Amino acid sequence: MTCKPTQTPAPEEFDIPSLREKYRQERDKRLRSDRQDQYVPSNADVTHSYDVDPHMPVTAREPISEDLDVVVLGAGFAGILASYHLTKAGVTNFRNIDHAGDFGGVWYWNRYPGIQCDNDAYCYLPLLEETGFMPSKKFADGAEIYEYCKLMARKFGFHDKAVLHTLITSLRWDEEIGRWRVGTSRGDEFRARFIIMGCGVLNMPKLPGIPGIDQFKGKLFHSARWEYDYTGGSYQNPVLDKLADKRVAIIGTGATAIQAVPHLARYAKQLYVIQRTPSTVDERPNPPTDPDWAKSLEPGWQDERKANFHRAAMEFFAPGEEDQICDIWTEITRNLAAELAAEGWPQLAPEEFMARREVVDYRVMERLRGRVETMVEDKETAESLKPWYRFLCKRPLSSNEFYGVFNQPNVKLIDVSDTKGLERITEKGFVANGIEYEIDCLICASGFEVTSELKRRWGIDVVEGRGGESIYDHWANGPETLHGTMTRGFPNQFFIGYIQGGLNASVTEQFGRQGYHSAHIISEALKRGLKAVEPTKEAQDAYVRHFHEVEMDMSQFQRECTPSYFTNEGQVKAPWALFRSYGPGWGAFQKLLEDWRAKGDLEGLELRS
Ligand code: NDP
Repeated sequence: MTCKPTQTPAPEEFDIPSLREKYRQERDKRLRSDRQDQYVPSNADVTHSYDVDPHMPVTAREPISEDLDVVVLGAGFAGILASYHLTKAGVTNFRNIDHAGDFGGVWYWNRYPGIQCDNDAYCYLPLLEETGFMPSKKFADGAEIYEYCKLMARKFGFHDKAVLHTLITSLRWDEEIGRWRVGTSRGDEFRARFIIMGCGVLNMPKLPGIPGIDQFKGKLFHSARWEYDYTGGSYQNPVLDKLADKRVAIIGTGATAIQAVPHLARYAKQLYVIQRTPSTVDERPNPPTDPDWAKSLEPGWQDERKANFHRAAMEFFAPGEEDQICDIWTEITRNLAAELAAEGWPQLAPEEFMARREVVDYRVMERLRGRVETMVEDKETAESLKPWYRFLCKRPLSSNEFYGVFNQPNVKLIDVSDTKGLERITEKGFVANGIEYEIDCLICASGFEVTSELKRRWGIDVVEGRGGESIYDHWANGPETLHGTMTRGFPNQFFIGYIQGGLNASVTEQFGRQGYHSAHIISEALKRGLKAVEPTKEAQDAYVRHFHEVEMDMSQFQRECTPSYFTNEGQVKAPWALFRSYGPGWGAFQKLLEDWRAKGDLEGLELRS
């Protein structure tokens, strides 16, 4: 499966300086001084969208009191991959603890109509060669991914020992017993030698703090807690027939909304799509997986494909390298590589390369803006749906149906870019551009806490290390770690996520490698009979210094973007900004860890028995 470069408008057909100026204006229009504070953390919100499980009843059980080698916080991809690597390393005395009623993480909670993987499932679904599973199509359905999560947990033997529908509320390191005391919403106390924080990155839904949101008298829910009882239909069969007499509004036009909107448009009496920043929405060919192709794959194919995806999305192809992914994520690299190949791969200085890449970026974005015009009949609506920013300022999306819905008489786009978001919510509806629209139902596809302060994202009240120090104070000015994995003062605690390490284009690849590294240290510590491991101050300081010296600096690029969680709402150098990563790249970071593990002496860790 390889593909040709796409046809994009030639540079002579548009004016780059004017486009640059247009991008700047569109960014300025949206920048808000309240940044993350424009959102309401959803564990404190009016819909209780964090606490309530609309998918599965919570059954009563007795509290558990137990010693364990490891508690794995989370049963999403981060927790599953950590558990897989623990098991492979011979550590089996562990439990996954999760707020959800089963394995799956975001794929457990997010069951909105139309939910699909929005990047290549042959890369995104981990361990395909180990499980022998093959996604049924490139952009697999959410239900299939959810089933696959459960399949992995069963196949590798940790499904049935998980403690589910259980929220971890406190983590306290007890120096005397050399264990973490793990408190939960069910009154449990686990005493775990090690803890792996597999919280994920999209675990905590957020709501826009729009004035009046708590006054609305109609139905209100977040897309990550879809209420089929209200809309009609089900996860497996999203026929939203109860909306036939309903006026519905959806806030957001991100990855979630563009998948849900076509279903809402099909069933609602009236649908208002409230848009602050348009997404880039390409076509989405999604044929069933070709069985002959699947049979032809050689061992090691998935790692090779993931590496190809990573180079295309975040680095660049080597001369002669073919694009295996062939979608919107890889288009710029594919097109530029084709140009350079035609020129015999000239030696370009980094600035020349970046300038060439920028031109291809404008061309691709022009193509995508042109796509809107060909699909949306009303000129004003089409104009509002055009994205004016560089590729990768926001997550690139694809849908064959999204633009077409705006040709339906029951669908109206409400552009709220001039007011930096929706102005107001009233008892009966919402106010946009001075007009009140009455609605019955408001759906917030308003995203998740990705880069806000740690406590807001983790939602755990107490995380205390040695001497009762809170991690939230410890990292008040940003994370300090050894290899993004552990921090001094918090023995035996391991972190998974976007934290002082390498950055991969695939979140599951990132989590998997982190899980592997954590499992390696834990299994070594257990083999050596160690009670506690934590970074020495010297090793941690040296790594943090090194990390900052070589840190990838995307701030110039990001400053020019329209704000979103990709740019930490415009505060690009914030401590938890998403793309603060190891500058020499993903491969170099993995090599650093491999060399460290190969030395075999757990260098830089203080070891206590
Ligand atoms: P996003 O954060 O991407 O989108 C939130 C939307 O809400 C944006 O359009 C945002 O506008 C809008 N919004 C927020 N506040 C307001 C306001 N006050 N007024 C009007 N609009 C507002 O969340 P999603 O749930 O769409 O996606 C989150 C992430 O989930 C994705 O980026 C992706 O990583 C993941 N995802 C992955 C999928 C997969 O298949 N792998 C599928 C779906 C989601 P603005 O852009 O202006 O901030």
